[in-house]
Amino acid sequence: MTVATKTKVHNYSAGPCILPREVFEKAAQAVLDFEGSGLSILEISHRSKPFEAVMAKAQSLVKELLGAPDNYQVVFLGGGASLGFHMVPLNYMKLGGKSAYANTGEWATRAVKESKLVGDTIVVASSEDKNFSYIPKGYAIPSDADYFHFTSNNTIFGTQYRQLPKSPVPLICDMSSDIFSRPVNVADFALIYGGAQKNMGPAGATMYLFDPERLGHTGRKLSPMLDLKNHGAKESMYNTPPVFAVYVSMLTMEWMKSVGGVVEMEKRNAAKAKLLYDAIDRLPLFKGTTAAEDRSVMNATFVMSDAALEPAFDVMWKEAGISGIRGHRSVGGYRASMYNALPIESVQALVDVMEEFAKKHG
Ligand SMILES: *Cc1c(COP(=O)(O)O)cnc(C)c1O
Repeated sequence: MTVATKTKVHNYSAGPCILPREVFEKAAQAVLDFEGSGLSILEISHRSKPFEAVMAKAQSLVKELLGAPDNYQVVFLGGGASLGFHMVPLNYMKLGGKSAYANTGEWATRAVKESKLVGDTIVVASSEDKNFSYIPKGYAIPSDADYFHFTSNNTIFGTQYRQLPKSPVPLICDMSSDIFSRPVNVADFALIYGGAQKNMGPAGATMYLFDPERLGHTGRKLSPMLDLKNHGAKESMYNTPPVFAVYVSMLTMEWMKSVGGVVEMEKRNAAKAKLLYDAIDRLPLFKGTTAAEDRSVMNATFVMSDAALEPAFDVMWKEAGISGIRGHRSVGGYRASMYNALPIESVQALVDVMEEFAKKHG
């Protein structure tokens, strides 16, 4: 099936985000006729054999791409990473226990807030003093906390942990916006979770990758819908999973695997980030907003040194077919989200516009 599309758009959306063209084509085909069944992926039972195979494939691809230990489990649930913020303390903080958090941005702030609703919550490090423009270093994590939670990539403010924190207690990570962007050692984590819509697939599914041994020790009675152990034991089929989002995530993971997995993603992402950050540093009209050593490879935030030039710049990048680089309202300026599926040609298109603009106005 071929579908005519408009001329190329360079999609820098922070999420839901760009996915590979071939994934869109396969997904479109499956909406019309799923694997020659005569049925749409949108109308098949989640308990049908073909969908059970999709779920199993999606679960095994997460583990394969990240090199997760065999005993780890994967589930895809609704509710977004935002529901995860509440499920984490419910599932990992003991009754009368406590949790430790690093607060590196808007999403981390929300995670802290949800943990406080559940129990004693200690913020061991924060970069709020400088509008979340850096990653805190050299802090201590109390060894009697039930877990330490951090956000590996700060989607809004544009910082990222280059080195993952060492912790004396189980590590839990909201990896929504940089999962599959680089290799990680999954065995170091009790839980990795994230909304699919940043680097894994479309909106609608939230992925949880966890060690089941670490669940069920809080002494807390949970609704089965909020109980990760239950979802794991039921193979992510306790209730109807987000069927289409899981399917498209599976296709995206197949694409990642076919082009070389997370090692190749890391290479591509590093090249794209270097191209853009070099331009930001080279052109005096543009300024990065974060500490250079903590710059995110996924979301590059920058402002213009003269804000009065913004409208003229906006006209120019829009004319070049660039979409979605307006910054989040809490930072202003610009944010270029360069997720896995964004080709380096799109980054070159943005850099070309920046250079041309600098020539005219520099
Ligand atoms: C987008 C985002 C979220 C929120 O995800 P939802 O799926 O909208 O709940 C949480 N954490 C990070 C790091 C994000 O980028």
